[in-house]
Amino acid sequence: MNDRHSDRQTRPERELIADARILVIDDDADIQALIVAMLRPLQATIVGAATGAEGLAAARGTVPDVILLDYELPDGNGVDILHLLQSEPALAGIPVIVVTGSESRQVLTACFAAGAADYIRKPFFGAELRARVCSVIERQRMLVQLGRAAHIDTLTGLPNRALLHARLQAAIERTSLESSYAFAVMFIDFDRFKIINDSLGHDVGDLLLSEIASRLWLNLRVNDCITRDTIGSTVARLGGDEFVIVLDDVASAELAGSVADRLLAVLEQPYFLNSHTVRSSASIGIVHSSAGYTQADDMLRDADVAMYEAKRRGKACHALFTTSMRDAVQHRLDIETSLRDAIAHQDLYLVYQPIISLEDRSLESVEALVRWRHPVHGMIPPSEFIPIAEETRLILPLSDQVLREACRQFMVWQRESPQFAPLYISVNLSRVQLADPDLVARTMGILRETGIAPHQVQLEVTENQLMQHRVMAGELLAAFKTEGFRLAMDDFGSGYSSLSCLQEYPFDVLKVDRALTENVSRGRGYTALLHAVITLAENLGLQVVAEGIETIEQLVLLQSMGCPSGQGYYLARPMEPSQLEGWWSTFSREQFEAA
Ligand code: C2E
Ligand code: CA
Ligand code: CA
Repeated sequence: MNDRHSDRQTRPERELIADARILVIDDDADIQALIVAMLRPLQATIVGAATGAEGLAAARGTVPDVILLDYELPDGNGVDILHLLQSEPALAGIPVIVVTGSESRQVLTACFAAGAADYIRKPFFGAELRARVCSVIERQRMLVQLGRAAHIDTLTGLPNRALLHARLQAAIERTSLESSYAFAVMFIDFDRFKIINDSLGHDVGDLLLSEIASRLWLNLRVNDCITRDTIGSTVARLGGDEFVIVLDDVASAELAGSVADRLLAVLEQPYFLNSHTVRSSASIGIVHSSAGYTQADDMLRDADVAMYEAKRRGKACHALFTTSMRDAVQHRLDIETSLRDAIAHQDLYLVYQPIISLEDRSLESVEALVRWRHPVHGMIPPSEFIPIAEETRLILPLSDQVLREACRQFMVWQRESPQFAPLYISVNLSRVQLADPDLVARTMGILRETGIAPHQVQLEVTENQLMQHRVMAGELLAAFKTEGFRLAMDDFGSGYSSLSCLQEYPFDVLKVDRALTENVSRGRGYTALLHAVITLAENLGLQVVAEGIETIEQLVLLQSMGCPSGQGYYLARPMEPSQLEGWWSTFSREQFEAA
């Protein structure tokens, strides 16, 4: 054994394992000294031990990066010592290089079976020893790195979903062993992350996430008086802008709630990211271990449900989970699934509500309104299923079906019932459609298919829907206008009621919301308001339709104000096509004679 090659020790090798700790277990003091000398160029910390027992004690003290283990020791052979190392979790992961004399192949096989990482035969050169030591340490560090990657979110350095899951499951198990132990799970979602990420770019988005991560982490570690000794609390990132905190040792959901409020205040402080300053609130859902969970996934799911509830309550707040929240979510899921089926099987149908001239009683239009009879829950109103359809984008196929059927029905009336002749059909557009760049082309396709002309179709849009996609909606409406469609602003008076909106977009019709019509009978102030709206619309060249006329008083008042058109239960309820003709043949006599 000599060390001729020591000068060839390469730099990268040295850098690789500088700060490594090597444990040499050998009862022969001379060999130990030789090994130490050979390893010196690595600049690692080298610790010696003369027996297996001494070696184990040294390893327990500070875990080494690698152990060089002489096969023959006074208190056992290499395989015995390897078994002892494997039996202690903290030591089991340490790679061991067995240093052998003349041992047989069987001995080496037994060493590998007992967990050895490598072996080296005496006599050996320094270069060979260093090469084996370096390669074992390198392999081990890569394994650790991989393990880390599997458990740590690379962007924020926080535990990821997998590690969170393991910690959460461990906390749940602890509750079943220690009756006094309790913890809470907080599900945190940033309220404006997507907007910030989309508008300022992913780099800024990444900075924001890192900043959120460190605010959460610092705040739980340092300031928390409720969880002062909570080294066990975990802040994890699930992905996107979703973070989860396992708050260790909190006695109740309410206490967790006060921690949540403090975190909300911290998260609301402005963020300085590159040259941008951004602000946003967060929403937090909380579940507490006292509800008796046994599965980490169940706890996470319920915390998520509570987080949605916090968003529903207007964001920037926390919500404590209750089972009724889960029922509501389940109900929504049921509805979503059966809505999907209903659309696929064309189980939705349309009713039509007439729009009538208040001047000469003629039939101007019918508005198509979608209906859904659920096989189990019965009739579900559009106010309930349209928002779900919008959230899931099922509204797109649904709206196509509605438009196709409404146009088809209109053409049937045109061809087959000359006495029942609405001038145009009205259909409603959803906000989701207003963000669909293919909307105009698809709509034109349906018109060609059914043979109806654009001027025979009125598209109704509410102001709230417009506001959500102003630019795109403006372009779509302009394109529809160019094609010759009639455009109506729906529900005017229920939202912002911004008059500028009426000028900005190419509307032909203003539909006054039921809320305004209803108020007419309440007194002069309201009457004056409605009168002003009608006059203004006329000045802007818009035709006015009063919606929701329910009484003869309202009808008479509207007529006296010169409101040209109306719609409402007093005139006609929404009806199926088969009922409409019969209604029309008796209509003019009854309602208007009363007026
Ligand atoms: P909307 O477009 O404002 O439709 C008028 C709603 O008012 C209809 O409710 C109609 O039945 C109701 N209504 C009519 N006259 C009266 C009245 O005198 N008194 C009262 N209290 N209500 C009256 P419906 O059918 O429940 O529809 C509600 C909303 O759902 C609609 O409001 C519309 O925004 C949406 N919707 C309905 N069908 C569709 C559709 O096919 N597509 C889209 N995107 N939305 C639809
Ligand atoms: Ca409408
Ligand atoms: Ca309306």
